[in-house]
This record gives sequence, structure tokens and C-alpha cells, in this order.
Amino acid sequence: MLHARQQTFSFLAGPDVPLPEASSAGAAAAPVAEPVSTAAGTGPASEAVSPAATTTAAREVVSPAAEVWPLDGGILAEGEPLLREMEGAADLEELGRVARGCRRCSLREGCRGVVFGEGDPHAVMMFVGEGPGQTEDEMGRPFVGRAGQLLDRWIGLLGLKRHQVYITNVVKCRPPGNRTPLAEEMRSCWPILRHQLRLIRPRIVVCLGSPALQALVHPSARITRLRGNWLERGGIRIMGTFHPAAVLRDPTKERAVHEDLRRLRAEYLRIAPRGGG
Ligand code: URA
Repeated sequence: MLHARQQTFSFLAGPDVPLPEASSAGAAAAPVAEPVSTAAGTGPASEAVSPAATTTAAREVVSPAAEVWPLDGGILAEGEPLLREMEGAADLEELGRVARGCRRCSLREGCRGVVFGEGDPHAVMMFVGEGPGQTEDEMGRPFVGRAGQLLDRWIGLLGLKRHQVYITNVVKCRPPGNRTPLAEEMRSCWPILRHQLRLIRPRIVVCLGSPALQALVHPSARITRLRGNWLERGGIRIMGTFHPAAVLRDPTKERAVHEDLRRLRAEYLRIAPRGGG
């Protein structure tokens, strides 16, 4: 479904192409609805955000359907056996095993282990964060610390349970001191996320924060400018919203996230009307 405020925009033309201006970037400038209660936790669907309550239409930013991703260029050292193993993994279990042996960048030296991702291997909706934090590194699972608890609430507001979606990060190893992953670290780790996308084939990907948008949409994408917009790549509907950690630091951002959740729920119900993963 394309909304009236629609723009065709090519992300494939390279980083010099300007992104849509914030003043016309739809949700970034649009009025937002009243926040919904966050007390719903992972409760029943009746507590979920109502798509009907959406007051603003998300702008559609349509890119070509070709499966060409921002981090594809220049990372695939031809003949690198590990990459061939990743590409050849038949399922998530095998890919996880290969990923756990990865030493493509120095992040692995400074963390306890690879946090591969978890959830429904056939999920309609997939969440992509930045990289594991301390708790995630200790537990080997994504989004299980404070930010993860907030993400669980958001998933509940979508009328879903955590096990019905898939959750992962752009980089699978904890960056030191929880810093933002560097561009070369994101590039090194990209073959894992790319193959996760191929195996899971989600219909909707939610980018939590700028690094995920940069990996999946455009190298200079900013969450503050693009959040709440529908983007598309490789046939996947992509929406960015604020990272839960950013909302914990600045709770005024949650109102915008709830608006994005309404759009996500409406699209999810359109794609999977009977609910479920
Ligand atoms: N922040 C992230 O981006 N990912 C996690 O898994 C946890 C916190």
C-alpha cells in the first residue's frame, strides 16, 4: 500500500545522494499521537497498540527491489573459506556455528562470545539492534538487559511475544565499553546478518537505531531523520525507530516509538492477518 505522501528514492546511487530532508521526511516532522500505555508488558493482544489510532501516515520511501545492500561492496574477500561457509549455511543453526568461529575483526578478542540472535526462524518481523551490551555478552543472548526489557514491552504492544519475532544485532560481538560499532566492524560482520536475512526471509525489519539503518538502508542514514518511514530493500519492508537504550536515556522519545509501533502493527496485520510469527 502506498500512501499519498509517497516519494521514489534510490538508495543504490551511493552515499553522495542526499537523504530526504528532515522537514519533509514524514514522521520525523509529523505530529505524533498520544503515547499508549507501556504497562502492557508482553500482555495479550487486546493491550496492543491499535493501528486505527494512527494519526499520521508514514511516508513511503521506495527503493528498487534488488537485493543490493549498503555493506555489500568490498567486503567479500574472494575465496575466504569462512565466508563460503557462512554463505553455504543451510539453516540458522549451522550459520550460528560458523559465526561462533569468526575472527574477521578484533571485536571477538574483547568479548566473551558471539551473540548470534534468537527467535522464530520463520519470523515475519525481525528486529536489528546495534551490538551486544555487557548483559548480552554474559548471557549470549540479544537484548536481555534493560534495553531488552523495554524492547520486550514494545513487542508486547505489537500484540506479539518475543519468541514470535527474530532479534539480532548488526555486530555479533560486544564493542568495548558498549561503544557504537565502527563501519569496518559492521562490514566485517555483515555476511552473518545478510545470511540471517536470507534464511529467515522476514517481511518486516525494524532497525533499532542508526547503525542498523546504516547497515540495511544507507551508509549515512540517521534514525532522527528517517524513523517512522517505510523503506524497502530486497522485497523487505524496513522501518527505523529509536533504540530502546536511547529511550531509556531520554524517555520523551518513547512517544515517537509508539507512533512507529502503530504503523508496524498495521503493516504486520496486513501481512499476517491471523497474527502469530
Ligand atoms: N543494545 C543492542 O543494540 N543490542 C543488544 O543486544 C543489547 C543492547
